[in-house]
Amino acid sequence: MVWDVAIVGGGSAGLSAGAILAKDGFKTLVLEEKLRVGGRGNSFEYKKGYIVDFGIHALRLADEGAAAKVFDRIGEKLEIVEPEIQKLYYKEEWTDLPLSVNKLSTTPIFSQEDREELGPALTQMLTLKPEEYWNTPVSEWAEKNVKSKNLKWFLQDLLTKLLLVAADMKVTSTGELFDLVQIFVKTGKGVGYAVGGWKTILDRLTETIEASGEVRVGTKAEKIIVKNNEVKRVITKEEAIEANKVIAAFPVQKLFDLVDEKNFSKEFVKKSKSTLPSMGISIDYGFSKKVSDFHSFMCADPWMTATFTSNIDPSVAPAGEQLLTVFSVQPPSVIKNLETAKKELRKIEDTIYTMFPEAKGNVKWMRPMILDIVDGAALTITQSRDKRADVKTTVKGLYLVGDTCNGEGAGGDIAFNSARRCADMISKSS
Ligand SMILES: Cc1cc2nc3c(=O)[nH]c(=O)nc-3n(C[C@H](O)[C@H](O)[C@H](O)COP(=O)(O)OP(=O)(O)OC[C@H]3O[C@@H](n4cnc5c(N)ncnc54)[C@H](O)[C@@H]3O)c2cc1C
Repeated sequence: MVWDVAIVGGGSAGLSAGAILAKDGFKTLVLEEKLRVGGRGNSFEYKKGYIVDFGIHALRLADEGAAAKVFDRIGEKLEIVEPEIQKLYYKEEWTDLPLSVNKLSTTPIFSQEDREELGPALTQMLTLKPEEYWNTPVSEWAEKNVKSKNLKWFLQDLLTKLLLVAADMKVTSTGELFDLVQIFVKTGKGVGYAVGGWKTILDRLTETIEASGEVRVGTKAEKIIVKNNEVKRVITKEEAIEANKVIAAFPVQKLFDLVDEKNFSKEFVKKSKSTLPSMGISIDYGFSKKVSDFHSFMCADPWMTATFTSNIDPSVAPAGEQLLTVFSVQPPSVIKNLETAKKELRKIEDTIYTMFPEAKGNVKWMRPMILDIVDGAALTITQSRDKRADVKTTVKGLYLVGDTCNGEGAGGDIAFNSARRCADMISKSS
């Protein structure tokens, strides 16, 4: 048989594109090499009664965000809950996380001088055109426009690291920062979590595809065959799969393992292969009792952001127990040196026990991870917006989706948004 669309990769992007296309009447096959779908967004019952996402998996802009829009597109509503009690651990004290106008004007972390400087800096963020700042490093913009050391810390280490999952302000794109801040302010939304975890998203998308097509796990695509600049088929160990269109739904760095690079321009090949991801440390904890009422928190030193997911959505942990996920974005210099990475990890663990004294004696299980890929493309000045790969390739019938593509937001947003754009493109062209 000939499939209308074959999708290589059953992560958030591949499943989203597949679900939309299946809904639009395309006979769709998704190939996933692992035994379960989800990729970097995998989510499953990790321990009895615990639905654990792969690290924190928050949905930027909550019910107005990219995942919600994919669900709208397939005619469904994604149930999302938003955290309320959000705290900051700063200089060994707890305070409210200053991310609303109200909290910004009352936070004890700012002096009067900080507040006076904050107004003009925020005005710039909200009014300047992001497209004029794609190539400006955040550190350069902050240096030019802010004198206070404290405020520089807030704008870079709190806001930018948190929103863009960025480790190094000397290369992070100010345009990407402005764009996200402007969308947050325009929608008035924060972040949200899918009820039942990211698993709900994966399950529903898979079911939608399987109503008319197939999601085949444990099947690695070995090659994508292109002839006369047109995509022909996908080769697995078992068979040659004929398809009219093929979507490569995995990080672009790996594209040329499957498709001969002679089909693309030298510049595209070089840029794609050298795309740098963001990196970090993630720890999930299952606690045998409730150790905090917080929904989420940030710690300034060592830098971490964390979510007591089961305080926001009790369905993800057994009653009376607690699920905490902690994430710390890190530069390659830390992650690529195992000893240094482990040292950071231990610092984070120790700080968790200092912040929540009851945590230490009540760890039922934990999952520490040192990750050399978090978001597929770090939002740097050389990888900002349309410097990333387009959804449509120069090969007829071959498309790319995923978080290394050109698209709005960061990480998962880009995966969902690129998938929606790709599916719309295929739908309209057929
Ligand atoms: C710890 C962590 C925390 C994160 N937190 C957030 C967050 O809070 N919010 C957010 O929006 N994003 C977050 N992200 C990023 C988010 O997970 C990714 O942006 C998103 O999952 C990318 O989806 P994708 O489909 O583009 O790629 P992937 O998830 O990488 O999916 C690609 C899939 O393709 C499969 N594959 C690859 N090659 C082949 C082949 N040859 N044949 C068959 N299958 C193949 C892989 O197995 C994989 O399943 C986080 C990521 C991590 C790691």
